[in-house]
Amino acid sequence: MRWRPTNPSARSKSWPPRSGVPVDQLVKLDADENSLWPGRRRVRRRHRRRQPPHLPRPRPGIALRAAIGRYLDVDPASVVAGAGADDIIDILLRLCMPPAAVTTPPTFGMYGFLARINRTPIVEAPRHPGFGLDVDAVARAVADGANMVFVTSPNNPTGTVTSDEELRALCALDALVVVDEAYAEFAEDSCVPYVASHSNLVVLRTFSKWAGLAGLRVGYGIANPALVERMMAIKQPYNVNVAADVAARAAIEHREEILPTLRALCQERDRMVEELGRFEWLEPVPSQANFVLFRVQGRSAAELAASLRRQGVLVRHYDRPDLRDYIRISAGRPSDTTRLVEAMAAQGAPA
Ligand SMILES: *Cc1c(COP(=O)(O)O)cnc(C)c1O
Repeated sequence: MRWRPTNPSARSKSWPPRSGVPVDQLVKLDADENSLWPGRRRVRRRHRRRQPPHLPRPRPGIALRAAIGRYLDVDPASVVAGAGADDIIDILLRLCMPPAAVTTPPTFGMYGFLARINRTPIVEAPRHPGFGLDVDAVARAVADGANMVFVTSPNNPTGTVTSDEELRALCALDALVVVDEAYAEFAEDSCVPYVASHSNLVVLRTFSKWAGLAGLRVGYGIANPALVERMMAIKQPYNVNVAADVAARAAIEHREEILPTLRALCQERDRMVEELGRFEWLEPVPSQANFVLFRVQGRSAAELAASLRRQGVLVRHYDRPDLRDYIRISAGRPSDTTRLVEAMAAQGAPA
């Protein structure tokens, strides 16, 4: 085999981190999850009530698609669920086998990984400074033959969103436009309503972030029913397991309890930005997600992340040229923010 894929999960940082800080005292601000939803207990209780799991009904997870349809006010026939949004990305690549796909770095790493294992060449259309989309660069890549475009809004790791105008320009291209809204529940906007009028638009959503169910693996796509039918035809029949199906429907059912925790996380995000504002060597990128990308000036961002880690505060640093000077910090509980700010203060002024 010429090319060896590297699975992102093999990006093995040891767990628990070798920081000497006990696991229950770690401040875990590196994975963008919802640490506030108390109702996870409800999901657990519901699992206990169930019979031992038999195979999920393969054809089509009707109840989950119907629940998602009600949640987003869309036709269930335009919903396809999978083992996380990652699974939907993989299904799209396997189904469409595009001659090339466009990504807009810096962005989520799974598009590149899944494209490589599906033998799809990737064309990068890097974002502008400040991380706005370069729609012209995307258009040039499509003119050169790419016919699938991955755009993330709010973008991971920058927290920036795609505007309606940019979305319209993208949908006018001769390509399947995949808008990954993994963090949409934290933002004010969504392009789900555009799906009905744009047959080349696919929106990805997940229960991993807002509902805190990342370990159960359940996400979905919203697209025109004809495309959804073709995706359903090639997906693994049991890609949503029984536990994930039950948990996802419980999260939708209890969304009125979860949504206030999302608002609280966003408030905590804003407090974090404000508190970290006193370190003038940290510059935040305005975010509409539950994390913030900070530019680190006058010292190494990698060393800063490592130093915070030794104090038991986990933040994310990316070993790639366009993010070398940045760290991404997820919003957490108020006590997490306090520990974060203390750990940051202990760094002292940059050299
Ligand atoms: C976390 C994340 C995903 C992964 O979602 P899963 O449903 O857990 O597979 C997809 N896209 C983005 C942008 C993410 O940050």
